[in-house]
Amino acid sequence: MEKRVGVLGGGQLGRMLVEAANLLEIQVNFLDAPKSSAKQVSNHDGHVDGSFKDAEAIKNLTAKSDVVTVEIEHVDTYMLEEISKIVDVQPSWQTIRMIQDKFAQKEHLQKYGVAVAQSVALKEASIEELESAGKTVGLPLMLKSRKEAYDGRGNFPVKTKDDFKSALEALGSNRDLYAEKWANFSLELAVMVVKTKDDVFSFPTVETIHENSICKLVYAPARGVSDSINKQAQELARKAVSCFQGKGVFGVEMFLLPDDTLLINEIAPRPHNSGHYTIEACPVSQYEAHLRAILDLPLHQEDLELREPAIMLNILGGDSPNSHHAFAREALKHRRTKIHLYGKGQAKKGRKMGHITVCAPTMPEAEQLIQPMIEFADKDKP
Ligand code: ATP
Ligand code: MG
Ligand code: MG
Repeated sequence: MEKRVGVLGGGQLGRMLVEAANLLEIQVNFLDAPKSSAKQVSNHDGHVDGSFKDAEAIKNLTAKSDVVTVEIEHVDTYMLEEISKIVDVQPSWQTIRMIQDKFAQKEHLQKYGVAVAQSVALKEASIEELESAGKTVGLPLMLKSRKEAYDGRGNFPVKTKDDFKSALEALGSNRDLYAEKWANFSLELAVMVVKTKDDVFSFPTVETIHENSICKLVYAPARGVSDSINKQAQELARKAVSCFQGKGVFGVEMFLLPDDTLLINEIAPRPHNSGHYTIEACPVSQYEAHLRAILDLPLHQEDLELREPAIMLNILGGDSPNSHHAFAREALKHRRTKIHLYGKGQAKKGRKMGHITVCAPTMPEAEQLIQPMIEFADKDKP
């Protein structure tokens, strides 16, 4: 393919993106450290060594690329705005700027009539402001950092007034914060949405299970969820993504409340952990869908449908530096198990080092097959 894609960041999402790109002979240039996950599986002279926060390096990448996209939303959107004058940036810098501030993102969605968890911004990180926010959204609440949040770092559950001080201390006084109404969800759901130049498509609704605010398991399709909720969640996700400009895949995280109400938790303007299962379980993966969307290549809703039920389990770093290899050796013994290791070197506790996907003709079979591996992973819990 003639167009070259430039990516800010080269971690595991970039690695899986370029695995899809290689099959289509699409050149993907990564801006990241020399031996980052993505660069390890992509050998050409278009990569740029450096930080995706470095202006000069971004300009270098721009000069070698036709479309620039991101692997992470915590990027300098003023740089993206500048380079958008000379290169196609997808999704647009406006979208990334809006989404990277989780409070602004929610206000934007609300403006378009999309249901989100009720949120109040704190003018400053003070007890008084938190107290006043608590009066609006009630207690318990989730105190959140507006920016730079991932894997729950940036969240602090506030159960009673006694937690005010520790919450503010934990999140830091120099961060912009907001308080979110506690969602007593029965399930967490997620939908990967693909925005192309003409259409907004969606992958099926999946169930995500978080442990310590970090995604642990993904069930596709979501278990015990009616067809109607599955469809409603996809519709809500498509509606939410339609509120933003630009092309590409978006990960939409939702809460399903006990009365079957759906609320948006947050949106990621990029491939997402809850969409890894699509590599094995769908005709076109979230990574290939992203490439097709940003490059205006054809894509069909049918390509995003589930071929077989699937379960994804994240491999998190344990106590020893090669705990992920020990896990992979165990996983190799099991039927129908696809292992992805990310090439990050030595494991750090709790860090995402890889994942496995198990597909089977029925969800109960997939559950049975993966159960010993969940137990193995739990032995080495972070
Ligand atoms: P990510 O890695 O998905 O970007 P993040 O750091 O942006 O995570 P959130 O998605 O805001 O964090 O929250 C992480 C998890 O914390 C959620 O998936 C959910 O389990 C829990 N959580 C977040 N907000 C609330 C809420 N308002 N009420 C109850 N639980 C919540
Ligand atoms: Mg987030
Ligand atoms: Mg999240």
